[in-house]
Order: sequence, then C-alpha cells, then structure tokens
Amino acid sequence: MTFMTITDNLKQIHAQISQAERAANRPPHSVLLLAVSKTKPPEAIAAAYQAGQRHFGENYVQEALAKQQALGAFDITWHFIGPIQANKTKAIARHFAWVHSVDSLKIAKRLSEQRGDGKTPLNVCLQVNISAEDSKSGIALAQLADLCGQVSQLPNLKLRGVMAIPAPQTDFEQQRQPYKTLYQAVMALNNPTLDTFSFGMSDDLQAAISEGATIVRIGTALFGARKNTATVG
Ligand SMILES: *Cc1c(COP(=O)(O)O)cnc(C)c1O
Repeated sequence: MTFMTITDNLKQIHAQISQAERAANRPPHSVLLLAVSKTKPPEAIAAAYQAGQRHFGENYVQEALAKQQALGAFDITWHFIGPIQANKTKAIARHFAWVHSVDSLKIAKRLSEQRGDGKTPLNVCLQVNISAEDSKSGIALAQLADLCGQVSQLPNLKLRGVMAIPAPQTDFEQQRQPYKTLYQAVMALNNPTLDTFSFGMSDDLQAAISEGATIVRIGTALFGARKNTATVG
C-alpha cells in the first residue's frame, strides 16, 4: 500500500465518520479514529502519521514493541486491542496509553500493579462478548456491572468504558442491535466516568456510530487487507 493510498483512505474514512455523525445527530469530531496497524510495517504507520493520524491500535505485544521502537520519534498514542495473556501485562501496562481488551479482574489488577510509578493512569475498556460467541474473548454482559465496580477501584487504571466485537452481520439494522444493547447496559450503570464506547470496525462503522461509538477501530479500510487473516480478538 502506497503513501498516497493510505492518505486517500484516511480522507475517505474521515468523510464516512463525519457523515455517520451527522446522520446520528452527533456533534462533529465526537468519534475518534483508531488506526489498527497489526501486521502492517512501521512504514505504513508512518504514512498514516504523516497524513495526520495519531492514535494506533495493536494486537500483538512483541510486534507492537518493535514498531514503537522504530517509531520512537513520533508522537503516537498507542492502544492495545488484542487478547491479553497474563505474562504480557507488564509490557502492556508500561508501553500503551489505552487497553481496550480487559476481560478479567485478574488481568486488570496486574495492569494496575505493573503500570509503574509516575505514569498517568492506564485508560481501560472492558471487552464485552456481546454476541456471546464461544470463539471471542470478553466478559458476558451479565458480568459488566460487577467488573466495572471492581476495576474502578484499582489505583493505576482509569476505567473509561467498553469494547465489543459483535458477530459479523451485513444488514445495517442487525449490525446496530448488539451495540444498542451494550450502550444501554452501560448507561444503566449511571457512571459518568464511562465515556468511551470502542465500537465498530471497517465493515460496520456507520452502525456503530449510530449507536454511540466514540472510538472506531479501523484496519482494513485504511491499510488494506491483512495477509495473515487471523481472527480478531
Ligand atoms: C483487527 C482488529 C480491528 C480492525 O478490523 P478491520 O476489519 O480490519 O477494520 C478492530 N478491532 C480489533 C479488536 C481487531 O483485532
């Protein structure tokens, strides 16, 4: 993928986001674009950066750390969005500003303990397995209230909201349903610090924005197809 293609794709995605914001009567710039750069080389990230993109999401710790080193001079905000193994929490806690994929108290406690002194709290979202698929990470919706209560107590984390990867659907109304359900469940918690809905990927960003997404996580539409089509988290 060339520099120009990434620049063009970025423009198009921003136009789609703006249009979806308008369609949902939401304020301009209420949705943040997170560029998902897993499996893509540092050059692709640099191209998007040069075109103005600042937030990048990665799924694999070792791969992410290598890219962070290569791009050390760039003012990038790094988000971890992949499944979390307990033996990787220290690297994640220290090298990312955001983690979208927290799905147990054990992992949350480790991230809080390992964040390191003098750092701002780590922004975290709880991943909810909203379509209740066996193959996906994430807590059940029924666990959300309890885990929110527990994670909110951890000193070096800032609980920001939820992340979801619903089962793929092509129909717009069907794409909206799981996001609507999760949005309402979060609203029912009545906790104003929960301001983040990490909803929507390349194929369902309009539906996600119509149901309250504040961060959309876009890989393919920005960087092109991934050679390694490993299933997402
Ligand atoms: C890979 C990935 C994405 C990006 O998906 P695309 O369909 O390529 O836009 C978003 N979120 C998560 C958690 C991912 O693993």
